[in-house]
Amino acid sequence: MKGGIIIDEKLAMRLYERFPKLYRDRKRPPSDSLMCFGFMVSGNGWFDLILGLSEDLERVSPDTVAFEVKEKYALLCFYVNGATAEGFKAIRAAEEKSATVCEECGKPGGVREHDKWYYTRCDECWEKLLDGKQSAE
Ligand SMILES: [Zn+2]
Repeated sequence: MKGGIIIDEKLAMRLYERFPKLYRDRKRPPSDSLMCFGFMVSGNGWFDLILGLSEDLERVSPDTVAFEVKEKYALLCFYVNGATAEGFKAIRAAEEKSATVCEECGKPGGVREHDKWYYTRCDECWEKLLDGKQSAE
């Protein structure tokens, strides 16, 4: 089992309040935008990454609206409408950087594989994840 399915609610609210335009679709139905599901990453480790990217987008690509933010194959995936070329560049940079930041706690980490699932974890969180899996078996 993974940890939480979404980022801590308080952290999510900070992003929503700080960037009301970028995340404005979060109140729309899922048929319009998947932002209603929040930030679908398994821990709080990528909060600073998402915060930094949101700041970059506000500056270089202010009309960007996010419609889905999630973890996929252990990497951050940040889907948007209305981004400029510079905005997409910032998104790609953040997505690439996510491969080096523990998704749980934000410490330096790397992409690891267990049972055909991929996770970006630091050493400590990786141990915990494997321990959890062993006791669940
Ligand atoms: Zn960690």
